[in-house]
Amino acid sequence: MANPLYDEFFGTHAGKSAPFLHLPSGDTLSYQAFLDMAARIANALVEIGLAPGDRVAAQVRKTPEALALYAACTRAGMVFLPLNTAYTVDELSYFVEDSGARLLVCDPESREGLAPLAERLGTALETLDGDGNGSLSDRARSQPAEFETVPRDGEDLAAFLYTSGTTGRSKGAMLTQNNLLSNARTLVREWRFTSDDVLIHALPIFHTHGLFVATNVTLAAGGSMIFLPGFDRDRIFEMMPKATALMGVPTFYTRLLDDPRLNRELAAHMRLFVSGSAPLLAETHVQFEARTGHRILERYGMTETNMNTSNPYEGERRAGTVGFPLPGVELLITDPASGEPLPTGEVGQIEVRGPNVFKGYWQMPEKTAAELRANGFFITGDLGKVDADGYVHIVGRNKDLIISGGYNIYPKEIELVLDEQPGVLESAVIGVPHPDFGETVLGLVVPERGAEPDLDTIMESVRGALARFKHPRRLLVIDELPRNTMGKVQKNMLRDQYRDMFT
Ligand code: ATP
Ligand code: MG
Repeated sequence: MANPLYDEFFGTHAGKSAPFLHLPSGDTLSYQAFLDMAARIANALVEIGLAPGDRVAAQVRKTPEALALYAACTRAGMVFLPLNTAYTVDELSYFVEDSGARLLVCDPESREGLAPLAERLGTALETLDGDGNGSLSDRARSQPAEFETVPRDGEDLAAFLYTSGTTGRSKGAMLTQNNLLSNARTLVREWRFTSDDVLIHALPIFHTHGLFVATNVTLAAGGSMIFLPGFDRDRIFEMMPKATALMGVPTFYTRLLDDPRLNRELAAHMRLFVSGSAPLLAETHVQFEARTGHRILERYGMTETNMNTSNPYEGERRAGTVGFPLPGVELLITDPASGEPLPTGEVGQIEVRGPNVFKGYWQMPEKTAAELRANGFFITGDLGKVDADGYVHIVGRNKDLIISGGYNIYPKEIELVLDEQPGVLESAVIGVPHPDFGETVLGLVVPERGAEPDLDTIMESVRGALARFKHPRRLLVIDELPRNTMGKVQKNMLRDQYRDMFT
């Protein structure tokens, strides 16, 4: 029997001396060397006492070994559960306990702090550091590079991925082999990936963007990755002439644009820049094209569904939109109250259905039932619309919707106006409690470097552009927007910070 995910992403590369990873040291790791590493780790997992179906939690730095752990879990039929390296010991205890992980792989530095938790839960504890060393590698080293692939069905779970926790407590999304396979196959086709591609990989590998978009697409195409430990502008500039593609969050692109070295010549060898995980400012899109001649391809996805929509590879990549539903993905805009589909152009909740959509939230049957309809549509929690040309526009999150004096106010609409004002780099509009209106609108603007935006003039322009009920009650200048590791603006933090402003 087969193991579709292993066979298609990993097994198919057996015997290849072609590079899979280009490392910062200048070394390369071939596909075969990577598969050997993974086989040894798979044997180590079995030696530790794990069985198919067990969850393997990993809070480790970004190394080839960490990626090989994903391959090892796949081959051994275990469920891979990567965790954000920023989580503290306290936060980690929730994930380890909630997931019922049988093994936790952590950095040697956090071993002592996690040992009591592991003991209490009966979870095995192994270490792996930023150089790929640790007790797991020690065990793996003495293991054979052969491993009998554990048979799996496409509907078996391949990974648990916790959501980013932008709107509340992170939820464990159960993803099957077919979820991952179907999405990577689609993206390879849509984005024209081949074995000639060399992707600059500067994203974390505990999140769907770096793990399931970037890595799976490379594996499915048989290409290679320049595997950087994190975002490093100098390194990216150094690598661009050797690379073909970059996947990043919007802050990658604003940071690259901040450097005068970014120009057409530097980007001449590249064929594709992809952005996602958070909205790309239209201005970033325009500036990037002016400087490099490349239009950034923006796509939209989430932990629960992998990727849902993408701007076209050929055809117009439209700034401020996330493109069209991917082949095989159905997308509906529905009325949040009735769940009925809305006419083209109207804003409502975004729902998606397709082979990419997860199996539900781990041990959250009520939440799963509330968001995953019996007919297979997943209510994403995002609000958006589809325009007359079929492009999907994300308007924001349902939870960020402001309801003031009975009116629905979409922060994005106001942010777009604020972003255009002189001296304004970007903005965030939030709802804060107000005694008369329930909630009212607060606008936070971040100035462009060295600029001092004039708030009175800005208010004047806003008045001209938007209906009265949408006018911010107050505007404030702040240094920067709070962002999490994926570059997502944490509006809940802003709401907490300014909650007493009008009360
Ligand atoms: P949580 O669900 O725990 O609150 P999260 O939704 O931020 O966290 P992820 O699954 O990492 O966790 O992120 C998915 C979300 O990211 C989407 O629902 C959407 O709001 C946002 N997103 C992703 N790509 C884009 C994009 N191109 N434009 C705008 N928003 C995007
Ligand atoms: Mg979410």
